[in-house]
Amino acid sequence: MQACYMGQRGYTVDLFESREDIREAEHVAGRSINLALSVRGRSALRHIGLEEEVVKSGIPMHARLIHDVDGKKSTQPYGKKGEAILSVDRRKLNELLLSAAEKVDSVTLHFYHKLTHLDLDNGTLFFTDKNDKKVEAHADLIFGCDGAYSCVRRQLMRKTLVDYSQEYIPHGYMELCVPPKTGTNGEHNMELNYLHIWPRNRFMMIALPNLDGSFTLTLFMPFDEFEGIKKQGEEGVMAFFKKYYPDAIEKIGVQNLKDTFNSSTSLPLVSVKCSPYHYQDKAVIMGDAAHAMVPFYGQGMNCGFEDCLVFNEIMDQHNGDFAKVLPHFSTFRSPDAQAMCDLAMYNYVEMRALVNSRWFLFRKKVDRLLNWLLPSKYIPLYSMVTFSRIRYHVVINKWKKQDKVVNNGLILLGFSALGMLVWLVSRGQQIKYTRLTEMLTQRIHDFF
Ligand SMILES: Cc1cc2nc3c(=O)[nH]c(=O)nc-3n(C[C@H](O)[C@H](O)[C@H](O)COP(=O)(O)OP(=O)(O)OC[C@H]3O[C@@H](n4cnc5c(N)ncnc54)[C@H](O)[C@@H]3O)c2cc1C
Repeated sequence: MQACYMGQRGYTVDLFESREDIREAEHVAGRSINLALSVRGRSALRHIGLEEEVVKSGIPMHARLIHDVDGKKSTQPYGKKGEAILSVDRRKLNELLLSAAEKVDSVTLHFYHKLTHLDLDNGTLFFTDKNDKKVEAHADLIFGCDGAYSCVRRQLMRKTLVDYSQEYIPHGYMELCVPPKTGTNGEHNMELNYLHIWPRNRFMMIALPNLDGSFTLTLFMPFDEFEGIKKQGEEGVMAFFKKYYPDAIEKIGVQNLKDTFNSSTSLPLVSVKCSPYHYQDKAVIMGDAAHAMVPFYGQGMNCGFEDCLVFNEIMDQHNGDFAKVLPHFSTFRSPDAQAMCDLAMYNYVEMRALVNSRWFLFRKKVDRLLNWLLPSKYIPLYSMVTFSRIRYHVVINKWKKQDKVVNNGLILLGFSALGMLVWLVSRGQQIKYTRLTEMLTQRIHDFF
């Protein structure tokens, strides 16, 4: 994405990628098969003319569809009518971006080039190629978009004072698949336009639809639970699914389920925060290299794409003067990305546990009502993150303020209702007393 942005601005760009050209690969190993794309990612794609094409091949998901243990289902809309996140194919998206970058005359792609180290002061990059041959390249400006375990970030930390923190959560993930309905030509075997969630408090499973009729399921769970199940072999897997996900067994298929557990391992999830993102006017990191986050808000890629848009906006402000652009980008973007890392952690609790709570569901309804009444003043948290480009750190501040006001309002309402009830009851009793006195007086009167 950043190669497209810089290429379209007229810079000569060399893009180095350690792996093969994904467009020619038979099988792509690695992370989730599909991703949720939302407004921030779409805005960045729009700027380089790719939004329409990506959206065309995405599947809109308007709401969460919650599966409880008894197989009962309920829905929770994501936003207002017409608002949806899109399930997009990770590989297809990468292919589109590579082809778009290649179309720009000033961009050259180099595959099988693994960066081993850098000389940041001289702008020299050292790679090993497919045949383990050493290759050197030179650049006036280096963009480190090399993921959560970034080599560029490591070098940056040696050259400048970088605040850095990294957190592995005790939960890992494993991917499973719900194939298309048997005997159909790619018909989906569950409701299509939803993000399916099986929340089970300590862990959860989710599913996103694919264009070929399948669903990709992701099981998020503490590593020790994964290990415990695996130790018990196939029986352990079946017992676990019968207990927690009985309605999913038939959809996944018993053999498919056993095979997946046999052949896969649970993968780790890391959250990375750091600041600054740059070294002088020579290098800057973006995307997961700068702010890897746990995937529970579906914002990792969206936030990375938005980095490119933000960088581009800052380039406009400083007429492409890198000595000003890079520090500005660091100070502007890092509080937002750090806020998003925190929100992503929070959303795991929401997805695996809170969605089961009556209070939470009631609050969601109140949020939607207030948003309907005051659309520009009151925006629910999920909508601010997913359907707007409000800066992430502002989102957190607004969310806390809104929450305080609504909670206080609800408490006040609760006390008022209680007061009213007490008044009504006491009034009722007064009436009863009055009637009783009237009755007794009458009886005494009759007696005499
Ligand atoms: C299970 C899961 C589900 C997710 N779901 C979503 C979602 O729904 N929505 C969303 O927005 N985000 C999601 N994410 C997050 C998203 O995948 C990442 O935020 C995004 O892929 C980051 O992109 P990136 O380009 O910064 O890094 P990466 O995707 O990691 O790409 C880095 C690239 O750099 C290359 N590279 C690395 N080291 C070197 C080197 N030394 N030399 C040369 N090349 C190198 C790699 O080969 C790779 O191609 C999810 C993540 C996970 C784990």
